[in-house]
Amino acid sequence: MFNKVLIANRGEIALRVLRACKELGIQTVAVHSTADANAMHVRLADESVCIGPPPSRDSYLNIHEILAACEITGADAIHPGYGFLSENAKFAEILEAHNLTFIGPSAEHIHTMGDKIQAKATAKKLGIPVVPGSEGEVREPEDAKRIAAEIGYPVIIKAASGGGGRGMKVVNNEKEMDQALMTTRSEAGAAFGDDAVYIEKFLGKPRHIEIQVLGDGKGGGIHLWERDCSLQRRHQKVWEEAVSPALNEKQRKEIGEICAKAIQGMGYSGAGTIEFLYEDGEFYFIEMNTRLQVEHPVTEMITRIDLVNEQLSIAAGAGISTKQEDVILTGHAIECRINAEHPETFVPSPGKIEYYHPPGGLGVRVDSGVYQGYNIPPHYDSLIGKLIVHGRTREECLRRLNRALDEFVVDGIETTIPLFRKLVQNDDMQTGDYDIHWLEKYLDQASH
Ligand code: ADP
Repeated sequence: MFNKVLIANRGEIALRVLRACKELGIQTVAVHSTADANAMHVRLADESVCIGPPPSRDSYLNIHEILAACEITGADAIHPGYGFLSENAKFAEILEAHNLTFIGPSAEHIHTMGDKIQAKATAKKLGIPVVPGSEGEVREPEDAKRIAAEIGYPVIIKAASGGGGRGMKVVNNEKEMDQALMTTRSEAGAAFGDDAVYIEKFLGKPRHIEIQVLGDGKGGGIHLWERDCSLQRRHQKVWEEAVSPALNEKQRKEIGEICAKAIQGMGYSGAGTIEFLYEDGEFYFIEMNTRLQVEHPVTEMITRIDLVNEQLSIAAGAGISTKQEDVILTGHAIECRINAEHPETFVPSPGKIEYYHPPGGLGVRVDSGVYQGYNIPPHYDSLIGKLIVHGRTREECLRRLNRALDEFVVDGIETTIPLFRKLVQNDDMQTGDYDIHWLEKYLDQASH
């Protein structure tokens, strides 16, 4: 196992990784920008190094400074968390060249899965069902129209290098195609430095269902069931649950096994997530994330497996601690992303937390780096914590979530807690009957 791990991240995920390291007796190094000198991950780490001013590109994305921090402290591995450098293949390569371990998959797998056209082709080869569409890049309007006519309108044009829900356009009929193809290509070129786009069938009312996987890098791999992340605003996940209310046991097992086999076939190393849209009983691959996800705790709650512990073990060469048949699914878990934002307008609300009281009790987990008196800096994304609740059934989980939300007090700033208090009582949420457009429709109606 490693002696000392540097955590190249901030906020709740830096703390999450730190906790796993402590339990394994691994020394921790926190890095931070000047805006984060008082952050909880800095306070709790064994050592800390300031790596630059507040803007991410000068600190949390500054590879040179992070390498220097490794050298100063003698860390032998880096955990990138999510976001920032977690899916940067070049960073993984540089670490390798410096004899440091990147706690994540190989640079090659990050690179392949980071390009959506390559990712889709790879998924298809590995036996994963994909959305019908073009075989690779589309440049000519004639080709685009021919493919769209074959699969049927509406279709969606997507940027190969897109991410974070950007670089996509829905095309409803042939007349819209010329214009749509031109704008998505030029927008993709400007935003991602790559104007390659591809076409796929636009699904009208899908759910977003993703499978958590672990690979040992030597052809071994398992799945840890699914998460349902259909509750989204602007393609950003808001509420996640495990397991999905939409799947039965047979479907769950089938898609899990397909994903585990794919991971074995790739020789994938570390934790990953294979994302699908799901409609009318069919799964359609959209992308693979080669890192730990924000919503990983719901999987931990239903399997009782510590995913960061597994990442550390795999990266250190000790493999996966659990066999597939020992990944036992128990009960139901829901995560609410608590953002420092106005619950109706979603305007960010940085500032000082005057009073803080997190909920507790059986089945309640709060992953957060904030505390009373903490000043939320305005420079980063607005996620300040995650409330994760487990119950023996989905009904018990919802009742417990309702109770936990009632207890949760964050004063001094606006948070999204009031939105969740309404959602947990909503009929569609109670029955689990919602798709990826549900939340935006709900918010739209609420604002009129
Ligand atoms: P990103 O990397 O930007 O998150 P994804 O490919 O994962 O891009 O897609 C993000 C979201 O866009 C999906 O969760 C879904 O809401 C929507 N989307 C993507 N592809 C399709 C499609 N073929 N049909 C309908 N919606 C889609």
